[in-house]
Amino acid sequence: MAASLPQFDEPSPERQIFVNRALRMESIRHVGFDLDWTLADYQRLPLERLTFELAVERLIQDKGYPETVRSCRFRPDFPRRGLLIDKESGTVLRMNRHRFVNLAYRGRQRLDRHQLKKLYRYEPIQPASERFYHVDSLFELPETNLYAELIELTKEDQEPRLPSPRTIFDDLRQTIDWIHAKGTLKQRVVADLPRYLRRDPELGLALARLALGGRRLFLLTNSDWSYAEAISSYLLDGLLPGLDSWQEFFDLIIVSASKPEFFRGSGPFRELENNGDVVAEVATPNWYQTYQGGCLDGLMKLIDGPGESVLYVGDHIYGDIVSSKLESTWRTALIVHELEEEIRKRGDLASRLDEGIALRHRLAQLGHEMDHLRDLITVTESSPNPTGSTDTTRLEPLQDRLEVVTSQLHQILEHEARWSEKLDTSFHSYWGSFFKQGTSKTRFASQLEAYACLYTSRVSNFAYYGSHRYFRVPWDPMMHELDLAHDSDT
Ligand SMILES: [Mg+2]
Repeated sequence: MAASLPQFDEPSPERQIFVNRALRMESIRHVGFDLDWTLADYQRLPLERLTFELAVERLIQDKGYPETVRSCRFRPDFPRRGLLIDKESGTVLRMNRHRFVNLAYRGRQRLDRHQLKKLYRYEPIQPASERFYHVDSLFELPETNLYAELIELTKEDQEPRLPSPRTIFDDLRQTIDWIHAKGTLKQRVVADLPRYLRRDPELGLALARLALGGRRLFLLTNSDWSYAEAISSYLLDGLLPGLDSWQEFFDLIIVSASKPEFFRGSGPFRELENNGDVVAEVATPNWYQTYQGGCLDGLMKLIDGPGESVLYVGDHIYGDIVSSKLESTWRTALIVHELEEEIRKRGDLASRLDEGIALRHRLAQLGHEMDHLRDLITVTESSPNPTGSTDTTRLEPLQDRLEVVTSQLHQILEHEARWSEKLDTSFHSYWGSFFKQGTSKTRFASQLEAYACLYTSRVSNFAYYGSHRYFRVPWDPMMHELDLAHDSDT
């Protein structure tokens, strides 16, 4: 791959690559890429609207749902990645890394704390169980939107009645799968690529810089050949001088990979001609060929080196990142499109975030003083003076102080609750910050930390870093390493 590469300054904060686990690019000899939502950045609104409308139509035509399903509202601001769908109770919810659910909607209605407690506090929650569905891909946002709308419809007294929340979920999942697999959605996307895809002029540079020094790039996607060919051609053809075809960016192309099965299975690689016809079946692929299917073992025989010489870049926390991490020693980078908006908002809200830290420290101080006063009062009450009565001269000042502290605490608690609600809606009108749930990390954020070595908002951000970057972790503190003696008398 030959191209003249312009120099870049350090990227803006929202375009940076963030590091969970140190990674020296010099030791990476192969970089693999997922396609959909990784190299291919879709235009969210038109794609979601199309998926939503196709699904509504299919539910009526194929699943026999009533015409009232057409009244479901397209609400693209409602769904978000990282949420869970509770198929049993028909809710969409957010969960933190301790499996604590503090926000859920049934249809369009937000559950109050009594409803949340009843549903999610009495039994331990098993997020990996069949009861929950994880919204891990941006492709799944329109169905999360439609699921909530269908649940909303179940509240209406109409005939025929909609089925149970679980059946609605299964019907919708099959419907969405059909739309993706049978090509309705893909046909519409391919017929109008500029409407549905965002062409990133810096993407070619990023790939070219990553390929410097003889590093090999490969494509590993679940999309089939004709779709992958159409969208890759639109995204990459002619993006760099001297590179006319998208295929020249890659040393190996694997389509219809069936991730996450690819990482566990033992399927053969079916060699494809440029028209998509299968011409051979092999256990180990060769460089500069295109294959369908395959498996990790076969690919590693070709790579003939340690798994840690491979960096895989994908957007699906489970299908791309967790699976490859569990089944191999590949290094991983997660594409998190939501990062840019989150970082911009954090910048805008910096002073309010500082206020929150101060409030929580003050709450902790008052809470500890209240606990201590209660102890002193209990000791005083249970230690009568020599006459056998309670020592009121010692007791009364303690009770007075307890009253003052309790009142202050309640005032600050109310203030903190208002602050927290306002901050949440500043991040997102339904779900708050993408990465934080109160003081804790969201479940998505904790998975990202555990499994993704790097994370960034788009692949083209690699253009700013070049091919020799040592991605370092400056500090990975535990709570006991932080300075918690924060002055919070505010
Ligand atoms: Mg993807």
